[in-house]
Amino acid sequence: MNRHYYIAGNWKMFNTRAQSAQLAQELVNELKDGKHKYLVAPSFTNIETVSAIIQGTNIRLGAQNCAPEEQGAHTGEVSVLQLKDLGVETIILGHSERRHSYKEDDALINKKVKLALKHGFEVILCIGELLEEREAGKVEEVCETQTVKGLEGVNVLELGNVVIAYEPVWAIGTGKTATPQDAEAVHVFVRKVIGRLYGEDAASKIIIQYGGSVKPENAAELMAMENIDGALVGGASLKPESFVPIAKFA
Ligand code: PEP
Repeated sequence: MNRHYYIAGNWKMFNTRAQSAQLAQELVNELKDGKHKYLVAPSFTNIETVSAIIQGTNIRLGAQNCAPEEQGAHTGEVSVLQLKDLGVETIILGHSERRHSYKEDDALINKKVKLALKHGFEVILCIGELLEEREAGKVEEVCETQTVKGLEGVNVLELGNVVIAYEPVWAIGTGKTATPQDAEAVHVFVRKVIGRLYGEDAASKIIIQYGGSVKPENAAELMAMENIDGALVGGASLKPESFVPIAKFA
């Protein structure tokens, strides 16, 4: 096993360019001696601004989505080619807000995953169950389906550029966090699914982040779990006071 911790900030639809620039600059200063892998994913409109600030630092540049097509008549969409042009290295796909508010299904997410991987991006594939699915005992079924369908047609080499983020939907932006033990159980399960699809070696190497109300107070106990390899952070990634302690969890 040679996994590293990977802490990513999803800035969602927040911040002007000036606010993003200030946040990026503070993170560059505060994380320069950080020991883990880091990423920030600003809004599309702020990517270029942030790119100029984090270039050459230990913080990677991410995007929160991409179009399922390379280019063409797709009003309002942003292509992988345009993201590459801005220096984006990683694309977050299948976020629960995309799945549930914008009705992205597994087939669409899979199309984006394959396109992003074809163009050499790292992909953070988000999976996770709704509260009613958890209450109905369907956590494994939902996470397995989203993993298997999200990765359909992805080969083992490409899998090396895939990170999975387990984000129980009921824990996102709600202040409710899965207990470290509950999260760990799902991470173990997802790693088993990867093992079945790609073999034990790939399963032992894949990074599985946890997301859902991660904050400075709970980061260390989550990261202490053997199969939790980092965090995808929403709300708490918007302020250095909360993101830096998560990124440097003790
Ligand atoms: C997210 O949006 O990926 C997320 C985990 O949000 P939050 O940390 O705010 O729950």
